[in-house]
Amino acid sequence: MRPENPHTLHLTVLGSGTSMGVPTLGCHCAVCDSSDPRDKRLRPSLLISHHGQNVVIDTTPDFRTQALRVGLDRLDGVLLTHCHADHILGFDDLRPYNYRQKAPIPVYGTAETFSVVRRVFSYVFDQKPTLSSIPSVELHEVDGPFSLLGVPFIPVPLLHGEMDILGFRFGRAAYLTDFSRLPESSVPLLEDLDDLILDALRDVPHPMHQTVEQALALVHELQPRRAWFTHIAHELPHSETNARLVAAGFPHVALAYDGLHFEVRV
Ligand SMILES: [Zn+2]
Ligand SMILES: [Zn+2]
Repeated sequence: MRPENPHTLHLTVLGSGTSMGVPTLGCHCAVCDSSDPRDKRLRPSLLISHHGQNVVIDTTPDFRTQALRVGLDRLDGVLLTHCHADHILGFDDLRPYNYRQKAPIPVYGTAETFSVVRRVFSYVFDQKPTLSSIPSVELHEVDGPFSLLGVPFIPVPLLHGEMDILGFRFGRAAYLTDFSRLPESSVPLLEDLDDLILDALRDVPHPMHQTVEQALALVHELQPRRAWFTHIAHELPHSETNARLVAAGFPHVALAYDGLHFEVRV
């Protein structure tokens, strides 16, 4: 085993799909019926690993499956981008890590996200005696950069339709899911990126998500070394869309896929 570079984060895309996942239930379009494994997209999430510690961005309805798939034996933190169902509904599956680690899991998010999490998972927070096991978490309201895995994490404010949500920058990478607009004030937080993972739902405009064309315009503006699209709907076939991106003059941009793994410098 080669010694781990102390200045490297390991990123794994746990899910690259939109809220309903791909295949979408009941749909038999070319992408939903595709045999290409990169066209199978669980709900959007990212794993960040460093020195045997692990943090996930969002606990999707697929969180348990995603954790099993990568053999996630330890969890050191959760970052929540926002409160939509496709980003929080796996929260209850934090319990096994509480058992193993005998400690609460720190969770980072905004006050708005936590108010919904407290409502949806009221049994976790209502402090009523219970015979069932419940997740044990410490909620940390994000109001500026914070340290996790010994690395600074910088919240990146985004607009998801009318909703204020968070992306995150860590080292020379950033993860921006679920947004339709990047506020001008967030642009300086995204300079000098090696890897940018960003929302690109489909080609047809959507009030809360970027299209491929809008995502490419942002890549052109921010100039990361590489960019990866996520939160992908069933309208975008993996290999054809990648070929299209190359033909459009963006050979350094590709669709992310479940299981995509790469390293980033801190
Ligand atoms: Zn979403
Ligand atoms: Zn959303």
